[in-house]
Amino acid sequence: MTSEPLTPAPADADARRAVRPVPVYAAEAAPKVDLAMLDRARATLAKVDEIVVPPRDATAFRVPAGQFFRIRSVEGPQVGDLNLWAADNLDERFYSGKTRALHGTHLDRGDRMWSGFPYLRPMATITWDTLDWYGQDDFGGAVHDVIGTRCDPYTNRLLGGDPYHHCCHSNLTRALGAAAGLPLGSAEPLVHDVLNVFMCTGFDRATGRYFMKASPVRPGDYLELFAEIDLLAGLSACPGGDCSASHSSDAAACYPLLVEILAPDPKALEGWTPPRASDYDLSHGAG
Ligand SMILES: [Zn+2]
Repeated sequence: MTSEPLTPAPADADARRAVRPVPVYAAEAAPKVDLAMLDRARATLAKVDEIVVPPRDATAFRVPAGQFFRIRSVEGPQVGDLNLWAADNLDERFYSGKTRALHGTHLDRGDRMWSGFPYLRPMATITWDTLDWYGQDDFGGAVHDVIGTRCDPYTNRLLGGDPYHHCCHSNLTRALGAAAGLPLGSAEPLVHDVLNVFMCTGFDRATGRYFMKASPVRPGDYLELFAEIDLLAGLSACPGGDCSASHSSDAAACYPLLVEILAPDPKALEGWTPPRASDYDLSHGAG
């Protein structure tokens, strides 16, 4: 955005600007989330596993369809970069852009993390968020965005940074490689734009630029998700720590994140089945 327009405004500029916006997608037309059922299941949860994600590093973990996982702040304010893959098909992975188009810039309870084409189905549904109270601050900031990408060594080099090997992109690449038995060169292209767990971000209203500010997360807070399909997940404890100042370096204070895997009483999910991939016929109008 520039302050001086490149061309003079037309005579009807105000009228054009006054046109009311409409939602791009009627997301409510998508199959409904049964939050009542998920709440009944939540009431029966028992922890089956937990995984510590070390600071400035990532860990991959598996969550079977029908189980829940919590990403928990444990020692200090820390944001996490989350990737999701279908456990049996790493080509099916989280599609940040379409999730943003369907649910908005930041995810709330009941919102879903959607997979890319040709699958486009819910991979996980957010079932609880102890930062739900934060809402939107006076700067337009909110938590758990799907507008960021993930910190990476390429952009860091582009902007004059020293080589730094513990950006979320590299952390996720190493974690996926180890979990899936892939060399780094095969794992890297499967790493994708993330759900920025706990990160507080927005777009500056004057300039449109992406901003971050200190995460409001504190030890004990958690984001909880329901696995809609069998998942392989990767979580990086971002080298930005609470992302109040910098990332892509060792400057910020960083803390571990804890992942808890929780199983409900199967009776609570009676009648539920994992969502199917899109039924589009893949013809794309050809032939
Ligand atoms: Zn990061």
